Amino acid sequence: MSKPVRSPGGFPVVGIIGGGQLARMCAGPAAELGLTLSVLAEAADASAALVIPSAPVGQHTDLEAVLALAEHCDVVTFDHEHVPADILAALVATGVPVHPRPEALVFAQDKIAMRERLTALDVPCPAWAVARTPAEVEAFGAEVGWPIIAKTPRGGYDGKGVLVAGSAGDLTQWLAHEGTAETGLLLEERVPFVRELAALVARSPSGQAAAWPIVETVQTDGICTEVLAPAPALTGGEAAAATHIALRIAGALDVTGVLAVELFELADGRVVVNELAMRPHNSGHWSMDGAVTGQFEQHLRAVLDLPLGDPSPHERWTVMANVLGGEDEELYSSYRHVMARDPGAKVHLYGKGVRPGRKIGHVNVSGDDLASLRERAGHAAAYIQGKVRE
Ligand code: ADP
Repeated sequence: MSKPVRSPGGFPVVGIIGGGQLARMCAGPAAELGLTLSVLAEAADASAALVIPSAPVGQHTDLEAVLALAEHCDVVTFDHEHVPADILAALVATGVPVHPRPEALVFAQDKIAMRERLTALDVPCPAWAVARTPAEVEAFGAEVGWPIIAKTPRGGYDGKGVLVAGSAGDLTQWLAHEGTAETGLLLEERVPFVRELAALVARSPSGQAAAWPIVETVQTDGICTEVLAPAPALTGGEAAAATHIALRIAGALDVTGVLAVELFELADGRVVVNELAMRPHNSGHWSMDGAVTGQFEQHLRAVLDLPLGDPSPHERWTVMANVLGGEDEELYSSYRHVMARDPGAKVHLYGKGVRPGRKIGHVNVSGDDLASLRERAGHAAAYIQGKVRE
């Protein structure tokens, strides 16, 4: 495997397992910071491999490929949370610092482990249980009220692996799945939330932490489509409480790097934790243009144990709209149009093949008038997606 060419001056090489858009978006900050990246990419045309020169092709499940990457890196971090435990253990055994560490990462990999740990920490969660049989599902539904939410403990994203169940019968297939006997299914009460929020923080190995403002995340068909930063109409006390929860989790779990805590807001302003991600997160894409220090720069600083940057917003509001794939595979002409129509819109595209509904980019706009920012970001994203034509 070819080694990355280190920049002169003693700067480290950061290895990233996974060549998705999160790894790709570290490239800009790495270039500015003088760092070299090396990415273990799923394919030669993976999103990050298109912009990072050192991008050996290999799978995160392939021990040899992971160890070969680590060999020339000063620290290893992740584009996703799917690296299996045995490979993580072998990676740690090489002595290369790994951030977040597997002991923390497991709480982003396994939703049952996460619920157990957060409950032990007294962090507010939905009522939950683990079930392996229809009788256990029925008992939980009777206790918290139907419908309930069932989740596969591992491997879910964008709502895949989440099911609303009106009875145990709705979960027959999932209960019969071979993995279920071993791990069980996570059951949760259906939280009557008024909206979804996210708390994004970064924490370094030496324990320094920084928190971005709490944001509102808007989901459409289980996919995050819009983020409002900061979350409108949140009181100072509510925002502080949500930030406190995220910082507490980061400290108690010894999280290193960026931590996203997805939250449900209840009608009375309290929040409960939905799930954790230990990497830059969609709810933080606004910070690339809207904050003094964006999440990708901050993640690099955190995993290298560099002093963290200021997470303060530049402007009153930043709105992020995700660009989803539409029918048209050609994007360049609509992207030109959006740039011409709105020179203040910051368009980020990930170099990914277009598939309907796939996240292929996002648009950030910042300013004072929230309604107009939402219109502008939404229009730009919809135009690139091909949903609007003027
Ligand atoms: P994923 O890991 O696929 O992102 P999540 O656990 O975030 O899955 O759930 C996806 C969506 O399902 C959430 O954004 C929320 O809208 C809904 N959801 C998840 N858990 C609950 C719950 N306990 N109560 C109500 N809605 C839920």
